[in-house]
Amino acid sequence: MIQPHRPTISYVIFRTPFILCIFPLLSPHVATGQDQDEKPASSEQMSLPEIQRDWTEAGEQGRKIHGTLTRINPHNVLIRLPNVDKEKIVKKSQLSKFDLAYLEILPSVHSDSEQYSQTESIWGAMHSGTFPSVAQVREYQVRFPKSPYGLLLSGIATACTSPDYELAESYFEKAHKAISAREKILPELMPATLVTCWNNYAIVLWRQGKGNLAVRLLSEACEVGPKPPEFLIHNAKIIMSENQNRVEKYQVPKKMYPVLEELAQKPYEKSAKQLRSGVMYFSLNVDSPPPLNVLDELLRLHFEGHQSIKERFTEDPVFANLMQSNNCAYEPWCTNCDGNGVFRCPNRCNRGVIAVPIQTLEARGIRGEPVYGTRFVDKQCPVCNGKGVGDKCSKCNGTGKNNTKERK
Ligand SMILES: [Zn+2]
Ligand SMILES: [Zn+2]
Repeated sequence: MIQPHRPTISYVIFRTPFILCIFPLLSPHVATGQDQDEKPASSEQMSLPEIQRDWTEAGEQGRKIHGTLTRINPHNVLIRLPNVDKEKIVKKSQLSKFDLAYLEILPSVHSDSEQYSQTESIWGAMHSGTFPSVAQVREYQVRFPKSPYGLLLSGIATACTSPDYELAESYFEKAHKAISAREKILPELMPATLVTCWNNYAIVLWRQGKGNLAVRLLSEACEVGPKPPEFLIHNAKIIMSENQNRVEKYQVPKKMYPVLEELAQKPYEKSAKQLRSGVMYFSLNVDSPPPLNVLDELLRLHFEGHQSIKERFTEDPVFANLMQSNNCAYEPWCTNCDGNGVFRCPNRCNRGVIAVPIQTLEARGIRGEPVYGTRFVDKQCPVCNGKGVGDKCSKCNGTGKNNTKERK
């Protein structure tokens, strides 16, 4: 965790009894606990902890009031003023950009913290090789569906306990969206979680032949921190070496190939243990959300252009583990056949069935001439004789498991 700085003078001076007089521009309405205009956006927001802070008015003067946030509505917030048993409705349009950023990120960080504490023991168990089932982790998404931890867990559990990459992709995609939204407001909020998501998402995308996005994600993950961790470069190299073994449709597009080559050349932070060749690695490192009482300080550092990633590199154990490729789980499925044990029928039939066009007489023209149309009928695929699959994978001998020998 980065060390929050002390509150600056400008923040302290506004904690004065004159606050009520110097902030007349804020709406004069006083709420009596019932807000007729707007309903709370969700019940999740209602459970926000009460936090006292300074609120700054938009515009050059930037006058401030001190008070406790009690509710966030779509267009306004309720702030309880100190020593007064009343709440003030403050329109969001009257608040500074800083306060708006705070209001936007606060509910996310709050729900992320709740979900992180619920899932913490599962992350710990995975580090020692015990992967949860998909059903087990799915319940964590129910309470906080937009928090990334439950989604990441579901993605990892799916990809590591069954090679259902399509399902895993949907979880990582949602986690990617959630993390991106937070990082847009407050960059470096969860750098280890970000790298973990981008890497794991890239693996399941590449498995399904979506090399373009996979390479882009790995490349973006490499931009976090002073150097990329080894597993990102390692995974990129596997994509590169396996690329020509794939059918063209599943290869990394030509325009992305230079990006892949650049990745393979990048200097990296060496892993603590040697990574196995030919095996892709998932990442299991996630950082906890910051405590709500340092959010103001983190936002201030960001607004002042401060970057904390270098401090995290040396001080934050989660990020340090990530950089050394600790807590990496190697991918259990065969790279050659994507864990299926068999290849798809080269005829690309639909489970042993192909649609064959036949010409049919549809109608007769005015002179009695035939008008033909085309219909499709199902026939057994002649290439796989209706089995729907092609040859057994020779690399894993049809097991689908990754049996790459450990390097000595
Ligand atoms: Zn195989
Ligand atoms: Zn076939």
